[in-house]
Amino acid sequence: MAPSSARLAIVVPCYNEESVLPVMAPYFLEKLSQLMEAGLCDADSRIVFVDDGSRDSTWSIISTLAHDNEAIEGVKLSCNRGHQNALLCGLMQAKDSFDVTISIDCDGQDSLDAMDEMLARYHEGYDVVYGVRSSRETDTWFKRTTAQGFYKVLSLMGVDSVYNHADYRLLSKRALDYFSDYHETNLFLRGMVPLVGFKSTSVEYSRAERVAGESHYPLSKMIHLAIDGITSLSIEPIHMVMRLGMLFCFVGLLGLIIAAIMKTNSLLPFMVLLLMLFSGLNFVALGIIGEYVGKSYLEIKHRPRWIVETSTLGPINRDNFQ
Ligand code: UDP
Ligand code: MG
Repeated sequence: MAPSSARLAIVVPCYNEESVLPVMAPYFLEKLSQLMEAGLCDADSRIVFVDDGSRDSTWSIISTLAHDNEAIEGVKLSCNRGHQNALLCGLMQAKDSFDVTISIDCDGQDSLDAMDEMLARYHEGYDVVYGVRSSRETDTWFKRTTAQGFYKVLSLMGVDSVYNHADYRLLSKRALDYFSDYHETNLFLRGMVPLVGFKSTSVEYSRAERVAGESHYPLSKMIHLAIDGITSLSIEPIHMVMRLGMLFCFVGLLGLIIAAIMKTNSLLPFMVLLLMLFSGLNFVALGIIGEYVGKSYLEIKHRPRWIVETSTLGPINRDNFQ
């Protein structure tokens, strides 16, 4: 059954985007009025720009936009907390006063036109609609290959994630309410949303290039996000370490037995090499386990994931963990 009301919040995290916002804001506004005219969302729907502690003039652009346009709201984080935190913060600020949210990056890479279909699916009764990239032609070969490799590793680790989906998605109020019960500090939203369940579907769009500025995700940050993604959703790496350890014990034992039977020292160089390999792998194993111990330490501290400095959306929702 179609939901009766659809007060929409389009949540857009922004970090140092002073060159992008003046270009993109008119497109967001135009899209919102199109959606309203088509009856896909209510007339009091909003675009919520979340400034993730930018160091440039992003916030002053957002506040001017919010001042001049009734349909634009601004939320400012007290300092940079990263894309995933900024996005979740925007969703949490919006969740009590909106019926449905769509999260999208501000740089024009994700086609705004996919929103029509997302909302159409919402009206058909879907609680979650994933924006899925139909092509990655505008990405570099390297980004394309590493991203696709990452999805494969995730599925090997038993993580249920939607292939080629990043953070462009629609969430109903109901899905968002349940999602707010996930209290973790180590956020990887695209892997967490499927855990909420509910009726979900996908909408395809082709990914464009940034309208201006540069990506905030260089290789080092992408590797970080990938490690966070795997460790926040699966403990399979620890099982792998365990299996590897057992395999090496067996190989070592076998080598010793063979050396004893042959009564020879000729296996010595081979054994030394094996020893080096195993001690290297020991460190890797310690590192993997350490990653989980470190993450548990961060979770246990239960610190707020963000602090909202100011918001035009009304009272600040401080329920970071609920
Ligand atoms: N972003 C953010 N905080 C950060 C880094 C990025 O809010 O610390 C925002 C950024 O402004 C953009 C989105 O996250 O709207 C995605 O970032 P980007 O386009 O740089 O990533 P890419 O598309 O290259 O993966
Ligand atoms: Mg981008």
